[in-house]
Amino acid sequence: MNFKEELELNHVFKVVSSAAAKSGQESYVIGGYVRDLILERPSNDIDFVCVRNGIDLATAVARQLGKDIKPVVFKNFGTAMIDYEDMELEFVGARKESYSRDSRKPIVEDGTLEDDQNRRDFTINAMAISLNQHDYGELIDPFDGMKDLKRKMIRTPLAPEITFSDDPLRMLRAIRFATQLSFDIDADTFSGITDNIDRIDIVSRERITDELNKIILSPIPSYGFKLLFQCGLLKRIFPEMVDLHGVEIIGKKAHKDNFYHTLKVLDNVATVSYDLWLRWAAILHDIAKPATKRFNEKAGWTFHGHEDKGARMVPGIFRKLKLPLNDKMRFVQKLVRLHLRPIALVKEEVTDTAIRRLLFEAGDDVEALMKLCKADITSKDHRRVQRYLNNFARVEEKMVEVEGKDKLRNFQPVIDGEYIMKTFEIPPSRVVGEIKKAVREAILEGEIANTFEEAFPFMVAVGEKLGLVCKKDKV
Ligand code: ATP
Ligand code: MG
Repeated sequence: MNFKEELELNHVFKVVSSAAAKSGQESYVIGGYVRDLILERPSNDIDFVCVRNGIDLATAVARQLGKDIKPVVFKNFGTAMIDYEDMELEFVGARKESYSRDSRKPIVEDGTLEDDQNRRDFTINAMAISLNQHDYGELIDPFDGMKDLKRKMIRTPLAPEITFSDDPLRMLRAIRFATQLSFDIDADTFSGITDNIDRIDIVSRERITDELNKIILSPIPSYGFKLLFQCGLLKRIFPEMVDLHGVEIIGKKAHKDNFYHTLKVLDNVATVSYDLWLRWAAILHDIAKPATKRFNEKAGWTFHGHEDKGARMVPGIFRKLKLPLNDKMRFVQKLVRLHLRPIALVKEEVTDTAIRRLLFEAGDDVEALMKLCKADITSKDHRRVQRYLNNFARVEEKMVEVEGKDKLRNFQPVIDGEYIMKTFEIPPSRVVGEIKKAVREAILEGEIANTFEEAFPFMVAVGEKLGLVCKKDKV
């Protein structure tokens, strides 16, 4: 099969080809770019492999591409990278790898194109296209990756035990590619994963989480999680999620399987948002259900307080998974903590006060929270789903109304601590906090408006009740 025409579309290939020819080297495009070219997925990362020296080739290519273009050289790895237009061009000499038991870093020596293809993770990632003059554009596909692309199959080029034991990160990559591309994993390849899950221990937490995030950002993330669960990897890398699995029955009362429920919520969120952190909030929204599960004759299964406990579990999970401990984490925590609030709201009469409180607590994340709550409706009863969605629509209307009046999502009370201290001439103390809280509560309850005219006399009255004396003239 020849890809000459496809290569015409990007002048970089001709440049690499002629630079390699001048220095008497063979050169090829290889890996993900070739796979994505055939799948017609646009890709800006292009990997080139040449037989001898990748750094020399990159230097020659950069010179031809323009005088201010310089490769970034990684001498230790024998690779070089060129940033060109919107592309990342990566150059490496063909290599042969051998692995030791306790590390996924191989011993590397120079090799042939064939050696280099043998060390690749999957047949669909091992295809190369020649840039050599005599067979320019020809596909070199020793493991029939083309067939696997057509039948949508992830398969290792060598025996799966070798491929996965050499570099156990590949187990996660297999599941990640299957999820991103909606491919199956070949049965032997999948057993190879199941047999090697212990080996995941030599992979750094950062790399594991990196793959996990790519699975989460795929179109149907539940697919990847089901594969991770099936092969046993999920238990090793994220046991809290596996704890959600299973149904307990007492008498005739069963609770739902929270693992599959969580996956459904995650898929639902994925259809309305690409945001990684909203997706994490979906994954973690019920994470404390196992820890809060109780049975009671009358009520059946309950999970009281799972939203608060879940929110408290978030930092520990983020720390372990090496996810960032910053405002992203706080966003996830907030959504987990508040995820029952909108639904609780629609079960009763929707009051302004309840809406004000929710807007105040959710702030700018209220839209994300509503997305999560809608995704959380996984009932199979269509009429029920419709009723909930209608109720949510009512809540949202009301939010717009209340927000228009009171501007609560970025709530700043008109009277702050500083002002309270000046008014009563008191130093910073607990009392200041109490007065501030009383003013805030009165505004949220709708007793006073969030204006100076109404808040000032209210504050003075609160202070006086606490035995303070106002030292300022009323405005
Ligand atoms: P994407 O960039 O979308 O993640 P990709 O296939 O380009 O997909 P990269 O991680 O960029 O993946 O790697 C480029 C190529 O290098 C792969 O296609 C594969 O041939 C090879 N490769 C990368 N990581 C490994 C690995 N751990 N084991 C074996 N081969 C690998
Ligand atoms: Mg890539």
